[in-house]
Amino acid sequence: MKHAPLAAQFIADRPRAAWHDQTLWFVRAKRDKAAQTLPEWEELRECAAAIKAHTMSRLADYLEQFEREATRRGAVVHWARDAEEHNHIVRRVLQAHGVTRLVKSKSMLTEECHLNPFLERHGIEVVDTDLGERIVQLAGEAPSHIVLPAIHKKKEDVGQLFHEHLGTAAGATDPNYLAEAARQHLREKFMQAHAGLTGVNFAIAETGGLVVCTNEGNADLGVSLPKLHVASMGIEKLIPRAEHLGVFLRLLARSATGQPITTYSSHFHGPRPGGELHIILVDNGRSRILASEEYRRSLNCIRCGACMNTCPVFRRSGGHSYRTSVPGPIGSILAPARDSHEFSTLPHACSLCGSCTDVCPVKIDLHHQLLTLRGELARQGELARSKRVGMKLAIFVFRHPGLYRAVGRLARAIVPRLPRFLVYNRLNPWGRQRELPEFPMASFQEQFHRRRENKE
Ligand code: SF4
Repeated sequence: MKHAPLAAQFIADRPRAAWHDQTLWFVRAKRDKAAQTLPEWEELRECAAAIKAHTMSRLADYLEQFEREATRRGAVVHWARDAEEHNHIVRRVLQAHGVTRLVKSKSMLTEECHLNPFLERHGIEVVDTDLGERIVQLAGEAPSHIVLPAIHKKKEDVGQLFHEHLGTAAGATDPNYLAEAARQHLREKFMQAHAGLTGVNFAIAETGGLVVCTNEGNADLGVSLPKLHVASMGIEKLIPRAEHLGVFLRLLARSATGQPITTYSSHFHGPRPGGELHIILVDNGRSRILASEEYRRSLNCIRCGACMNTCPVFRRSGGHSYRTSVPGPIGSILAPARDSHEFSTLPHACSLCGSCTDVCPVKIDLHHQLLTLRGELARQGELARSKRVGMKLAIFVFRHPGLYRAVGRLARAIVPRLPRFLVYNRLNPWGRQRELPEFPMASFQEQFHRRRENKE
């Protein structure tokens, strides 16, 4: 199913959609306050964008340097061309160590590669240890947001889920009680695990080290108890030097949740004593994006989620409507860049308001890229027929100024008098869920009646 009908399903539950919208806006407002506390905020953004642009311009060199340094520190570095290769490498490493229980901290890359179902098919139990991820895993769903994976779930849903899977009291909704139940449940899984898998927020070419940011400390616990640590990272996660890290750490948490810093920023330089560290560098379409002048900057993304929290479409349509591991504005660029047919409608899930570009800590020109992508997809024939006809009509009108003015006059005369059902009807998936604001309509009608009364 494409984005619009899935969004319509999400909006159909109006109270939930409104709550989702307000919650994400609350996070966005927190981000604004946190950003305003730093007078050098814009300089940090400029600096981060410049570091990333430089890294991308020499990515092959930095990747080789990273491999050399990481290997020197005792890690084993693997290269994966695509998701399939990544999953096979993980399986091979785990099976070589007899692993049947794996704990995993948040990693959007493993979601992208569909690692969990793959490993489970091969008899390996995978437990997501980030609380939000564990909630969606128990629900049999994908994360709906890259930072807040269970943001579409209310505490009542979580209470019911935990009651069914963890045996908590029926009807319990107290967040402290539910969090404690999750803690006890996950503690057991940590103790039983044979290996830990983490994502990677930043990889430092100069030192061969990895940095993983979490708020729950689950990555640290997951890789401190077992001897085997597997780290999966997209090749774009590199930064050249350790001194660059401060720029990104200051931007990341403030942009994501409005915190000054994530609670844990864990550094891994080589395996723990007596253990093994396997780092998998994954391409999966990234070098194709890197080769594109237009979309290369989308690889600068540090996955803070700020563009999702601010996006009026994302807030009102929910992350699952995008059907991608990374949804929202950045996902609407990355997914069609990988599969233009499957995700052809995503660049249209955008009002072009530019708010995503304004908040992006690494200054990706998201809405410009989305607009360019729309044109490109249209040229590839990936435009719905209704849109094609509409566009052709619009082009014809725009090319004839007289006609344009006449249509404008006609529209001004007719549209305010049209019955609401002509615009907000069941044929329009967005319109059928929307209501015109009551007050302006009422005041318009009042004015209309008042004017008529005055004339009489
Ligand atoms: S595109 Fe920018 S705002 Fe969106 S997740 Fe990536 S870094 Fe954050």
